[in-house]
Amino acid sequence: MNTSKESQKQMRKDFLASKPRSETFAYIVGDGIYINLTNRCTNDCSFCLRNNGDTAYGSNSLWLTREPSPEEVLSAIDSIYSDKCSSFVFCGYGEPTCRFDALVKTAELIKQKYPDKPIRLNTNGQSELINGEGSTSLLFGLIDSVSISLNSANADEYDALCHSVFGSRAYDAMINFGKHCVGNIPVVQFSVVEETLSNEDIEICKEIVAKIGAKLRVRKFISENDQNPEGK
Ligand code: SF4
Repeated sequence: MNTSKESQKQMRKDFLASKPRSETFAYIVGDGIYINLTNRCTNDCSFCLRNNGDTAYGSNSLWLTREPSPEEVLSAIDSIYSDKCSSFVFCGYGEPTCRFDALVKTAELIKQKYPDKPIRLNTNGQSELINGEGSTSLLFGLIDSVSISLNSANADEYDALCHSVFGSRAYDAMINFGKHCVGNIPVVQFSVVEETLSNEDIEICKEIVAKIGAKLRVRKFISENDQNPEGK
C-alpha cells in the first residue's frame, strides 16, 4: 500500500475514533421508524450525511458502539413504537445489506409482530457483490419497498462520486439488483441527489430507470438538521 493510501486510511480511522457513539438502533423520522443496523458501507459517497454530522432528523448519534442483534433491534422498535408509526425503514448510518443475515432476520421479526406495516430498504444496491446474486430472493415477501441510490448516469461518474470498494463493478451490480427486485418487491424506486447531477444526467437516469420498470425519485441533498422525512 502506498503512503497516500495509508495516510488516507489513518485519517479515516482518526475521523471515526473521534465520533460520539450510542446504541441508537431505531429512531423516529416523521411517522416512520428507521433502523440503524450497521455503520459499515461499501461506498464513501462525497455527499454522505455521515461526513457532515453524527445524527439525522433529531436522533441521537447514529454512530454505533456496537452492531445490534435482530432481537435488540425489535426491542428498540418496541420502545418507541406508537399507533402513529406507518412504516419501518432500514436506513441508518451505513449500508444495511452489509449485515444481510441480520437484515433478513430483523425483517422477519418485524413482519411477525407488526404484519400490517410495510418495510422499506434504503440501499446502495451492492448487495449482490457483498452477499452473492442469489441472496436477493431472500428479501422477497419480507421487504415491501426498496429505494436504491442510483446517484449517477454511468459507471465512471458513479465511481467518482461514490468510491465503492468494488470500483467500476458497483454500478452495473446496483442496476442488476434493481432489475432482480422489479416484479418481486412491490415498490422499486431508484434515487438521485438533484444537486450532484446535471439536468442532462437526470434525464439519462430517468431513461435507465424507466427501462428497468422502476420509479426514479430526484431528491434534495439533506443535511444533519433537515427535518423533512422525505429527504432520504
Ligand atoms: S451508500 Fe449511503 S451510507 Fe454509504 S457512503 Fe453512500 S450515502 Fe453514505
